[in-house]
Amino acid sequence: MSEAQRNLPPVTVETRPFWEACRDGRLLLQQCRGCGHRQFYPRLVCSQCLGRELDWIEACGRGQVESFTIMRQAISPAYRNDLPYVVAIIRLAEGPTMLSNVIDCDPEALQIGMDVELRWATVTDEITLPKFGPA
Ligand SMILES: [Zn+2]
Repeated sequence: MSEAQRNLPPVTVETRPFWEACRDGRLLLQQCRGCGHRQFYPRLVCSQCLGRELDWIEACGRGQVESFTIMRQAISPAYRNDLPYVVAIIRLAEGPTMLSNVIDCDPEALQIGMDVELRWATVTDEITLPKFGPA
């Protein structure tokens, strides 16, 4: 039986600048030059006005827990040693939401509205994941 693999995000033409910045410890969002809308995840067009002129801006790394769930069963054997862990929607200070994990925190102590800040998790040479911990 082969060793279970963790799911890693694909690096695409849209997401390459984002993942490269993550490796440098910078969290990037996109901001539309036409309407000012800020978005995450990275896309080729603005999700509000379909404009194609998007700039990268650096997020401050602070946010709040908007919603979360505590994972108590592993989706694959690769995640068994992480249990229990938190999957959360983080409302970034800049506006967009991000699906991530809250770490360095007792899952039972987590609350909606809790202030969190970035914690980087290096997974491979190519992928460093933005996660969050109590601020
Ligand atoms: Zn726009």
